[in-house]
Amino acid sequence: MSANYDAIIVGAGIVGTACALECARDGMRVAILDGGEVGGGATAAGMGHIVVMDDSPAQLALTRYSQILWQDLAPELPSSSEYETPGTIWIAADEDEMKELSRKCMNYRHHNIPAEVLDAQALREAEPNLNPALAGGLLVPQDAVLNASSAARHLLDRAIWGDAVLLRKTVVSIGNNRVHVSDGTVFHGSRIVNAAGADAAKLTPEIPIKRRKGHLVLTDRYPKFVRHQLVELSYLKGAGSIAPESIAFNVQPRKSGQMLIGSSRQYDAEGQQVEQPVLDRMMERARYYLPQLDQLTAVRAWTGFRAATPDKLPLIGPSLHDPTVFLATGHEGLGITTALATARLLADHIAGRVSEIPREPYFPSRLQVGTMIERGHS
Ligand SMILES: Cc1cc2nc3c(=O)[nH]c(=O)nc-3n(C[C@H](O)[C@H](O)[C@H](O)COP(=O)(O)OP(=O)(O)OC[C@H]3O[C@@H](n4cnc5c(N)ncnc54)[C@H](O)[C@@H]3O)c2cc1C
Repeated sequence: MSANYDAIIVGAGIVGTACALECARDGMRVAILDGGEVGGGATAAGMGHIVVMDDSPAQLALTRYSQILWQDLAPELPSSSEYETPGTIWIAADEDEMKELSRKCMNYRHHNIPAEVLDAQALREAEPNLNPALAGGLLVPQDAVLNASSAARHLLDRAIWGDAVLLRKTVVSIGNNRVHVSDGTVFHGSRIVNAAGADAAKLTPEIPIKRRKGHLVLTDRYPKFVRHQLVELSYLKGAGSIAPESIAFNVQPRKSGQMLIGSSRQYDAEGQQVEQPVLDRMMERARYYLPQLDQLTAVRAWTGFRAATPDKLPLIGPSLHDPTVFLATGHEGLGITTALATARLLADHIAGRVSEIPREPYFPSRLQVGTMIERGHS
């Protein structure tokens, strides 16, 4: 069997399903191929924090644009997507970090993103279970949380109403308008979108993606134990570092009253297994911020793999070597946040439309071989 499509999307995670919907909206005949569960990859393993980040102007533009697209989509999401807007509080441990919070606050406000610095007293009132020795925080009230697997299924359903098809196939190679799958079938597409997450480099070997393992812990129900997504400010250092392992305090309240506790980032750590020493370091860090955590019960821990690029920006746009292949991957720890913007930018590119934000910072062509080696991604 073989069939012709305007767009074939490999990967039905949050990014691939968002791309399928945007392409279907543009009137394309779309097939989305996945060998596993819809939204069952990193999308299921992630926290679902929709967060504006300002490590670079390009990251800020993409995260904010996508957050607004999520706000627009929120009213139609099913209740299982558990979309809520608790806001984020970035936590400063000391006065040096308070200075950094002030800078961050000014930057957000400069870009019309509401943000408010909390002193130590205001932080205690907002989050009574935090360590009283902490210096303060930055409240970013529009940051949201959701169940990303449910959201991916919703995006796919919407794409299918628009005439897309889901094919449960494992892809073995892509290129020259063809998609070869493991049962020997070849599909033909005017464009092929590689949205295979942390496995994208298996299909497009020239892209500099590294798998970055992460652990999360889910607690029992403790409603209002924390009220916002709480993230230590030095999380930014960990996320941006190229060290083999980094740990940062990051806790999320879920609609169920449960909490997700993160997080770890490891390069060169293959295998899905939960690593107890990593979990221990993660929980020790969390206990510094939330000393009463010891009295709570954890019900589950799991791991997932982020797709990391050397410059912490995703790859969105045409591949370097094959004009029929487009990339929508490399989102590392922000793929749930930036999925909707990724899909919109990609669809704009294919349709030749002007986008709401510049597309060039995310083009795969920015990563030339010299840059990759310089940044330790040889
Ligand atoms: C611990 C952890 C916490 C995170 N927290 C957050 C967060 O709070 N906020 C946020 O924005 N992001 C977060 N992330 C990152 C986020 O989860 C990912 O960036 C995002 O889910 C990537 O989505 P994706 O669709 O690209 O990949 P995936 O969800 O991995 O989907 C890729 C799909 O491709 C399929 N596939 C792969 N290869 C093939 C093939 N050869 N043939 C067919 N199908 C194939 C897979 O089966 C999979 O379904 C976190 C990640 C981790 C690990």
